[in-house]
Amino acid sequence: MNQVVIIGSGQAGVDCAFGLRQQGHAGQITLVGDDPELPYQRPPLSKDVLKSRGEAGWLPLRGEALYTKQDISLQLGQQVREIRRADRQVILEDGSTLPYDQLILATGARNRLPPLPGLAEATPMALRNAADTRRLIAALPDMDRLAIIGGGFIGLETAAALHGSSTEVTLYEAAPRLMSRSVSPELSDWFRRFHEARGTIIRTEARIEEVLPGQLRLSDGEIQAHDALLLAAGVMPNVELAADAGLEIGNGICTDATHATSDPAIFAIGDCAEAPNPFSPAPVRLESVACASEQARRVAAILTGKTPPPQGPPWFWSNQGNARLQIAGLARPDDATEVEGDLQDISDTATLTIRRYRDGSLTAVETVNQARVHMQARKTLSEAMETSGRGQ
Ligand code: FAD
Repeated sequence: MNQVVIIGSGQAGVDCAFGLRQQGHAGQITLVGDDPELPYQRPPLSKDVLKSRGEAGWLPLRGEALYTKQDISLQLGQQVREIRRADRQVILEDGSTLPYDQLILATGARNRLPPLPGLAEATPMALRNAADTRRLIAALPDMDRLAIIGGGFIGLETAAALHGSSTEVTLYEAAPRLMSRSVSPELSDWFRRFHEARGTIIRTEARIEEVLPGQLRLSDGEIQAHDALLLAAGVMPNVELAADAGLEIGNGICTDATHATSDPAIFAIGDCAEAPNPFSPAPVRLESVACASEQARRVAAILTGKTPPPQGPPWFWSNQGNARLQIAGLARPDDATEVEGDLQDISDTATLTIRRYRDGSLTAVETVNQARVHMQARKTLSEAMETSGRGQ
């Protein structure tokens, strides 16, 4: 009976373990994760958990009893140190070995540390796991000024969770606009005004020269003081285990359309994997719950000899205060934009739809507080892909 070992107890790893059972896999399933906690959802960490100061929002991915019921062996608080492909074994940090017939790499990503003098020594806070969130919440009562490095989703969600609190938040973004890799210039500008109106100080094109104890020194010599520093400058995929095992690495662990790596017994899914995607001209590594879950379901089907569900359009959400941003599809920064709604309305009840086009074809739809439009956009993008015959 086939033994499957999954490395990483995040969204992709857990969904794959349960997906395998659902698809009828009868062999052993072992899920190894270095996080000691029962696997949990990450999105609430920078939203409801932080906003409620830890009172609400903690959500396990599955109840503890379900792992036993589905005969999924959980090895938590254990890091996998090595993959021995020739022996089909993984080596854990305590020296024990796990044999596998198929190995799934779901190792996720970790915070990127920009090469700024003094940053590593300053031991900035982060928001990647439950322990990070607890640390931030515990520090909040004594925090008058928080400096956030990075104007992407996590930095902005954190700022939003502190809107109206006694902590003054200054967010430093090196690029000229917020969330520049992911949303249209119009939406970047809308969110800037939305946050500034609620008290967040936003500095784009910020050139931080050096991180000093309790201070940031900017390129023009200006010194900005803070009580705490949060690093939210993007993530990098955890590929080292795969690289050491000689697997092909690009902007993530490279896979084919069946999510197999350069070793056909090893698969990679979620934030750590770079995979072909019918909605992207080149293989792409996506950082979203939707992608992690979809790839997990596909691998579970493939490993049990079933036809995998087709890949739908990538989608993502980010709650920033009362603004629920949703993105369907994949746009490139220079894709054309068409705005529906009033960009001047930055109230809590504002609604916006921004459609993105390339060569006249719809590539993505960005919405604020428009759940129905978002769902319809996913459907439209799927149908267009089916019609084009490029889906897989
Ligand atoms: P991860 O969840 O990162 O899990 C990988 C796990 O593998 C980690 O626990 C890691 O420690 C472990 N691991 C790595 N190497 C080893 C090893 N050698 N041995 C053992 N274990 C190992 N996405 C959205 O779509 N919407 C959102 O609103 C949203 N909000 C987010 C908010 C926060 C604060 C964060 C951090 C992420 C958010 N995301 C959101 C992104 C989303 O959570 C990720 O895309 C998703 O969790 C990826 O799942 P994963 O299983 O691939 O990786």
